Amino acid sequence: MLDIRIERTTTPKELPKADNPLKFGTIFTDHMFLMNYETGKGWHDARIVPYQSLCLDPSAMVFHYGQEMFEGLKAYKTEEGRTLLFRPNKNIERANQSNRRLCIPEIPEEDFLDALKAIVKTDEAWIPTKPGTSLYIRPFVIATDPYLGVRPSDTYLFIIILSPVGAYYPEGLDPVKIWIEDEYVRAVRGGIGEAKTGGNYVASLKSQVKAHQEGYSQVLWLDGVERKYIEEVGAMNIFFKIDGTVITPQLNGSILPGVTRDSVINLCKAWGLPVEERKISIDEIYEAYKNGKLEEIFGTGTAAVISPVKELRWENHIMQVGDGQIGEYSQKFYDTITGLQLGKIQDTFNWTVEVK
Ligand SMILES: *Cc1c(COP(=O)(O)O)cnc(C)c1O
Repeated sequence: MLDIRIERTTTPKELPKADNPLKFGTIFTDHMFLMNYETGKGWHDARIVPYQSLCLDPSAMVFHYGQEMFEGLKAYKTEEGRTLLFRPNKNIERANQSNRRLCIPEIPEEDFLDALKAIVKTDEAWIPTKPGTSLYIRPFVIATDPYLGVRPSDTYLFIIILSPVGAYYPEGLDPVKIWIEDEYVRAVRGGIGEAKTGGNYVASLKSQVKAHQEGYSQVLWLDGVERKYIEEVGAMNIFFKIDGTVITPQLNGSILPGVTRDSVINLCKAWGLPVEERKISIDEIYEAYKNGKLEEIFGTGTAAVISPVKELRWENHIMQVGDGQIGEYSQKFYDTITGLQLGKIQDTFNWTVEVK
């Protein structure tokens, strides 16, 4: 067991009211988890303290060269009042994959899980219970050496903050319109696209702003070399259902290995639905669309779980998918995954972990 010192707040905040829409990422709980790293000493001083500002040197390396890693997962309250995490070990494993790519020291898996459970337990009262709501968990590591030279830092801070979040789509699963980017690229193989790190997001902002101006809510990236193969959407992996087969781009080194992506692939296999992880070109999608075989498109990610797509814009082509409503399988994946997360469906996959 990780030894965690707990200092409780003496001035707890008021819990959000039942009618608060809990806009994503705007409300934070009473406490946070912190742990330091120092070369030679390793990870140490695990503690839970009142949620507060950090005090960092302006020369801290994270501000200048972006050495940081983050994760995102959720805790759910079941009808019987149990607290469940969804596949936390996948996030922990991925965090350490990101850490290795970014020259950040790995965090022992058991310590990471202990930290997640302890902070969620401490602020358990903040887990919202209305349908579609959950407690979003954001673990991250930042490089803290006060130094302007370029090298891996010798000191780091591991932090976990919590944010109660509402249903991603207050009106139900609202299908989105997606812009296919053919000018800028997000990542290339050999780069940091497969690590969960801020650098990938700053690279994406310019396109996101452009897409929003054109009335599209998200950007779909093509590969950085040929600008031909589908990669992923902003903060989601992407799936197509073409002529009865579910297809998603294979993990090629430049896309993020999503936990929700993995869950959908596993559900396809369990249901006997043909599923393929492979290279898929934008021309193939356009062909399928023209032939009337493009049945469904949806994104997958922790925040929205399943995000149905109703329109793709590629150069001057506009592809309308289905009848503008959520597709049959998109709905089925959403219902099954959220059912498992909330403990409503028997968890034959062993995906949920209870916080006691
Ligand atoms: C986090 C993230 C995803 C989705 O991963 P999940 O584990 O399913 O939440 C997809 N793409 C990018 C770029 C991401 O950062």
